[in-house]
Amino acid sequence: MNPSDLDHIVGEYDRVGVAQAEQAVDAARAAFPAWSRGGVQARAELLDRIGTEVLARRAELADLLASEEGKTLAEALGEVTRAGNIFKYFAGEVVRIRGEKLTSVRPGVDVEITREPVGVVALITPWNFPIAIPAWKIAPALAYGNCVILKPADLTPGSAWALAEIIHRAGAPAGVFNLVMGSGSALGPVLTGRGVDAVSFTGSTGVGASILKSAAENGIKVQLEMGGKNPLVVLDDADLDVAVRCALDGAYFGTGQRCTASSRLVVQDGIHDRFVEALSAAMRAQVVDDARAPGTTIGPVVDKNQLAQDMSYIEVAEGEGGRRVEGGERLQRAKNGFYLSPALFVDTLPTMRINREEVFGPVASVIRVKDYDEALAVANDTPFGLCAGVCTTSLKHASHFKRNAETGMVMVNLPTAGVDYHVPFGGRKGSSYGPREQGAYAAEFYTIVKTAYVSAG
Ligand code: NDP
Repeated sequence: MNPSDLDHIVGEYDRVGVAQAEQAVDAARAAFPAWSRGGVQARAELLDRIGTEVLARRAELADLLASEEGKTLAEALGEVTRAGNIFKYFAGEVVRIRGEKLTSVRPGVDVEITREPVGVVALITPWNFPIAIPAWKIAPALAYGNCVILKPADLTPGSAWALAEIIHRAGAPAGVFNLVMGSGSALGPVLTGRGVDAVSFTGSTGVGASILKSAAENGIKVQLEMGGKNPLVVLDDADLDVAVRCALDGAYFGTGQRCTASSRLVVQDGIHDRFVEALSAAMRAQVVDDARAPGTTIGPVVDKNQLAQDMSYIEVAEGEGGRRVEGGERLQRAKNGFYLSPALFVDTLPTMRINREEVFGPVASVIRVKDYDEALAVANDTPFGLCAGVCTTSLKHASHFKRNAETGMVMVNLPTAGVDYHVPFGGRKGSSYGPREQGAYAAEFYTIVKTAYVSAG
């Protein structure tokens, strides 16, 4: 369904049941010996072909993505391009799989450390980046010699189907890549059960916790990317334009539906009023409308459940004493869609629910602080630890923040959302579990290290 236009059905897709998901696991298992021991050149060429087709068809794939997820065409184009680049990047990484050879402490013995594929890997992905997140899991999984089962989010089957078709056409041998579309709760036990060797998940904290439990019970390697409550600290010495741009992009673009969204704006006393005024003005200048219409800067919320969640957090924030200075209204547009104006709260406290729980919508709240030390303490006062940003012209504060923010990623004078495709992505505390994703660090999850001792005899 198109969240910009509820009369537009983007496509119809089947749901598989447990028996078909089990067949996919069996097919992956059967394909694994040949795929994992086959030549790396074949893997490199497969990934390169996939990347080439994704990039060549980026406009068409972006249109599909914007239609089913609701991000703007420009954002969708960026996401599809990123997905293509990820496949290209891992096409190169395939021929850079490294080992080590060390001298043993025992004379006459050599020690070799090599990386081997994990086996059958289940990838469970959310709706908010329906092509980039599958890409950044599938590409390293295949590059390092694993067989894959992808379970995309129920809300965004079209992008997953298009990507699967491309992978198939690029020549992935039967069983190496499998797509299962269906309800997460129904298929979850198969995808985190004894038939698979590893599961990589991105989504909500609650589902992540249940996957961790099931993986532990079944002895499966697990990687989880979950929520965030990312702070953007704005210090008195910040460049106001930079700070407003960072807040606007980080909090509201992508309709705020990003795990790296800056939902907490931690603002120092001296710049507070100017910042709130300038950000409010910038918010009023945004165009909330059909994701595919020229000029739209913020698309609709993804579906009615997410919209209900966003609206309920707006009520919660008001009930807690937060003052809404901008947005937070349901909007009617030419087409009937899930439109919500971006919302800004001030006078909020770090202890309020609006500052502790992930909303996952275009809603941000300002916490006023007196100095840098309080800003850092507030930024770190959260169960999450994905990304933190600071806007400042002080090298001293930027350097200290970079070192002391309790997150996996830090941004200085940049929005908390928006990352490169060739470097590690991930968080600390309740945001992430297991090895990092993306870049060369993806090898940590998609391979197993083997240590071999060799004596000449
Ligand atoms: P979920 O965590 O429910 O879904 C993510 C993926 O997990 C989907 O493919 C889903 O399938 C699948 N899934 C659901 N239940 C199970 C299960 N028991 N076992 C295995 N897989 C399962 O997130 P939603 O998409 O429903 O979004 C809900 C909330 O999660 C959002 O409002 C937001 O707060 C947060 N979220 C955070 C994201 C992030 O990047 N940090 C991304 C997306 C959501 P299915 O779609 O079929 O249910």
